[in-house]
Amino acid sequence: VQISMQKVGICGSDVKYWTAGAIGDFIVKGPILLGHEASGIVTKLGPNVKNLKVGDRVAMDPHITCRSCEFCKSGRYNMCPDLFFLATPPDSGALARFHVHAADFVFKLPDNVSFEEGACVEPLSVGLNACRRVGVTMGNHVLITGAGPIGLCSLLVAKAYGAAAICITDIDAKRLEFAKSLGATHTYLIGKDDKPEELGHKIGQLMGGPPHQTIECSGAQFSVDLAVYATRHAGAVGIIGHGPPRVSFPIVTTVAKELDIKGCFRYVNTYVLSR
Ligand SMILES: [Zn+2]
Ligand SMILES: [Zn+2]
Repeated sequence: VQISMQKVGICGSDVKYWTAGAIGDFIVKGPILLGHEASGIVTKLGPNVKNLKVGDRVAMDPHITCRSCEFCKSGRYNMCPDLFFLATPPDSGALARFHVHAADFVFKLPDNVSFEEGACVEPLSVGLNACRRVGVTMGNHVLITGAGPIGLCSLLVAKAYGAAAICITDIDAKRLEFAKSLGATHTYLIGKDDKPEELGHKIGQLMGGPPHQTIECSGAQFSVDLAVYATRHAGAVGIIGHGPPRVSFPIVTTVAKELDIKGCFRYVNTYVLSR
């Protein structure tokens, strides 16, 4: 379908491609468009499109996948080896007047959802995927390390999933203030004298019991340590953040607590639920 773009969010990754020209192995080698957090209005349909009409207000899942590999078939299409993803070199983005996208990755927005909110389904999807990966459910205590956009999206989803206590940490007091306004039950401003092991216990006390799940959204070594020390025995740690390519883990604690450490990469099948 052809889409007249209305709102496109600028993600941290867009800024990184613009300023540094690469994120890890994804290197900008030729001209590409940026933008993968996108919403718009359908302006033209391909001959076989049945799920949309011209004039529909839509948001786009940035993936287009092969639909036939083992991952696509098992509902994990974000692992597809033959994958297009908006604004990830060499794939171009949607920050343009018009963009053509595969109809099965385009989703109609309800009337009460604005184009801005439609574009924000993308970062919200990252939080949703992480909450699913670590199994957040009703009554859980959830720790989120890092109160940037992805930390906040994880917070919103954890709240919607019925988490009873949500603690979010950051090194920026203003971010924590905002997180509180979005529904964090506890916040903790990390200072330079904090030690992850002590702080792990402290956060458990603060929350009225240690977190069942921790979602790491900062990429900082400190937060990885904190996640392991804070999380309850038999709990789960979801890793979204990545700063340096290698960080260390408190391995003895991870093993002794039987923590499930789960990598969280983008998202899968979130646009249907996020609507
Ligand atoms: Zn993004
Ligand atoms: Zn595939």
